[in-house]
Amino acid sequence: MLIVAGITLKSLEPRVWDASSSYFLPDLQAVMISYADIHQFPRMRQRMMDNGIHATLNIPGKIQIFLDNGAFGFSRRGVETPTNEYEEFIRQAKPYWRAVPQDFIPTPNMTLDEQDECLRRTMLVNTAYDYDGYVPVIHISRVINDYIAQMKANENLAAKPCLAIGGIVPNLLRAPKSLTHGEILQSLINLRREFADKQIHVFGIGGTSTLHVAMLLGFDSVDSSGWRNRAARGIVLLSGSGERTIVPLGSWNGRKLNATEMEQIAECFCPACRKFGLEGLKSQTTEGFRIRATHNLWILLEEQKWISENLNSGDYINAYSGHLNNSTYLPLIRYLIENKTSI
Ligand SMILES: [Zn+2]
Repeated sequence: MLIVAGITLKSLEPRVWDASSSYFLPDLQAVMISYADIHQFPRMRQRMMDNGIHATLNIPGKIQIFLDNGAFGFSRRGVETPTNEYEEFIRQAKPYWRAVPQDFIPTPNMTLDEQDECLRRTMLVNTAYDYDGYVPVIHISRVINDYIAQMKANENLAAKPCLAIGGIVPNLLRAPKSLTHGEILQSLINLRREFADKQIHVFGIGGTSTLHVAMLLGFDSVDSSGWRNRAARGIVLLSGSGERTIVPLGSWNGRKLNATEMEQIAECFCPACRKFGLEGLKSQTTEGFRIRATHNLWILLEEQKWISENLNSGDYINAYSGHLNNSTYLPLIRYLIENKTSI
């Protein structure tokens, strides 16, 4: 499964794709940019259209660039998604992967009618852009089975090689009125089976435990901006153990590292920790942010490798519970192992 690192144009540091940087992560293969971000920088947008995204951002050509439509960012600012400009940008800048120009995101606490309305409006966009490499988007909600049926009923959409799904994490975290875990996982297993031939991307995976869920479900790629926004709050990821606050920043009051975890992280082998050590991770400077962000992304990439190796060797079923310490996702992972014959 491909890990797509969410980035922001407001600051391209740490340049984890740059072989000359202290923060270089050679295993990184793809990044995701939001169009909401690009739209805020008209001159940079134009340069991307004239010279390509890689050249403008000085990102090596081998790194795949995924483009999210930014619908979430635009709606949060109360702005209508500029679909024409999005299309124009895609025609000229040619990102490797791009979502349809707009989708209407249901929240777990919406009524059934409201979720139905999100489905109707999103499917209108999916249908209008059933050509030219646009990736249709569907959402985990109480109407997920209607999404699947409508996608399959449309010949052009059914023939698309790719599909993206949003809303997994908020639903797995059980917001009010959300589905039960069993219902969500069963609908995801069903979705994977119904679209067995498609490359399925999952939007917005958070930390390491959700990687296990996505990989057990057989999804092809996930994106996460968690490596950066956790770093900004002074939070570091730990392999198999979720996340801990290493330096209290802002109003965020997360769980702190205990002595054993502090020892574990002091021995971290990521490029940033090897160079800057524990003091670097704890630093409140901009460099501290870069060190934590690099560390966090490295942990995600390593976790993906661990899961992949253990699934391939057949050891996963014996190793996962020892690897995932006290994860709230353990029952979900157990459910997937018990209900999915391919594992
Ligand atoms: Zn590290």
